Amino acid sequence: MNSMGFIDGHLHSIFLSFYDLKLMVDSGYDGFVTLAYTPIPPSSVSSLRDHYEHLLFEKNRCGVLGLRVIVGVGIHPRCIPRGKLEDYISLTREYLEQVEVLGEVGLETGGDAELGVLEKQLKMAKELDLPVIVHTPRSNKIAIVKKIIEVLDKIGISSELVLIDHLTPSPLLLDMVLSHRLWAGFSIQEGKTRAMDVVWVVEKYPELADRIVLNSDSGLYPSNPIALKNAYEVLSSHLGRVDAYKLVSLNALRFLRL
Ligand SMILES: [Zn+2]
Repeated sequence: MNSMGFIDGHLHSIFLSFYDLKLMVDSGYDGFVTLAYTPIPPSSVSSLRDHYEHLLFEKNRCGVLGLRVIVGVGIHPRCIPRGKLEDYISLTREYLEQVEVLGEVGLETGGDAELGVLEKQLKMAKELDLPVIVHTPRSNKIAIVKKIIEVLDKIGISSELVLIDHLTPSPLLLDMVLSHRLWAGFSIQEGKTRAMDVVWVVEKYPELADRIVLNSDSGLYPSNPIALKNAYEVLSSHLGRVDAYKLVSLNALRFLRL
């Protein structure tokens, strides 16, 4: 993809209005990665199928405005469905063959059920050679990221395929991500990460300038669909336009292999 505009690496467009999308276009966005997330855990396989179809439909809805939509499907740790898990996994497998990303998957509390769901999904991404966007929780982040890395090692998936998202500027976390050669996701959102935190990270860990993918995680909760555009101003004034542009567009394209 030959791109000049912003690429948001993680959001939930099904919760964005037409006005939000128009604002993104007018602010210089080329596209975004829209990920699966159902606030209510699916009560049946067909309900999850409808969610995945809804995500695919976003290609049409947003495409009309000229936005490129990269779709991720997967079972989020906060939305683990009731019922026979194998059926939901094989449905996810069916849709993984039609999309570009596995996500949003990950761990929230790190219990056995979550671990099982994550392992099964990572195996499929490894087999299909698909990039994976991994959610991390607000609390207990360091311990949970350790658990995630254990699972990645166990499955033997290439670290080139895996982005650990919602990171914070914690040296312990950043060391783990760097030493495992993973991609680093930061959500520019109130209560998560500010643009100045990212400036600090890149100044302290210059090697991460090629591994960081920024996103707004916009959708259901207080968030700004043009957070990346706003962050770009701050990033370029501190880091220069070349590095700033990597963080808001080029790295995402490299991670997605577009
Ligand atoms: Zn999300």
